[in-house]
Amino acid sequence: MRIVMLGAPGAGKGTQAKKIAAKYGIPHISTGDIFRANIKNGTELGKKAKSYMDQGMLVPDELTVSLVMDRFQEPDAQKGYVLDGFPRTIPQAESLDAALKESGSQIDFAVNVDVPDENIVKRMSGRRACVKCGATYHLQYAAPEKDGICDSCGENLILRDDDKPETVEKRLKVYHEQTQPLIDYYAQKNVLREVDGTLGLDEVFSQITAILGE
Ligand code: AMP
Repeated sequence: MRIVMLGAPGAGKGTQAKKIAAKYGIPHISTGDIFRANIKNGTELGKKAKSYMDQGMLVPDELTVSLVMDRFQEPDAQKGYVLDGFPRTIPQAESLDAALKESGSQIDFAVNVDVPDENIVKRMSGRRACVKCGATYHLQYAAPEKDGICDSCGENLILRDDDKPETVEKRLKVYHEQTQPLIDYYAQKNVLREVDGTLGLDEVFSQITAILGE
């Protein structure tokens, strides 16, 4: 099963993507996570990506697409995946479709996690990420056991630069201009499914499993 998660930054699509990956036994491929891992490891790709990410801008399509195409070569991605944060532009979606067509496959579902803008800024200021392992938390919805400390590895939690309010505003603008058109793109392909992202985590997930099947 090949799934694309759509939705504004902070809509909760990453959390849902992880739950989908666990339930359906497919890898969770997050371009944001891959970029962040590269930044942490000081790679060339990481250096290039960081300058865009810190400003709330998108990393250029060529860089992003080639990174995803490399990831698709891994053995675990042969039977499917849930894509989180990719595609984010129409050219990325077209490159993805072209690559899938070549291998005789297609996107089965594009799940749009719908959350109004008003809720987004509020939600993102509550996000916290582990400096070491990248695990994410939310002060209201998914708090760590100990304040400011990662449950998984015990390191400190921070508010990521790209989750700061001024960057969030910019990311929302970029989302509306460049990513939202993908909703129509996938609707035209009859694979778009909408879920109400303002509900609780478990309710959103039951809507998703109702779509994807048990
Ligand atoms: P995310 O964790 O998905 O919200 O991504 C964080 C940041 O990584 C974004 O604000 C972009 O700067 C960059 N990024 C992630 N995925 C993409 C993509 N598909 N295309 C371009 N930039 C991306």
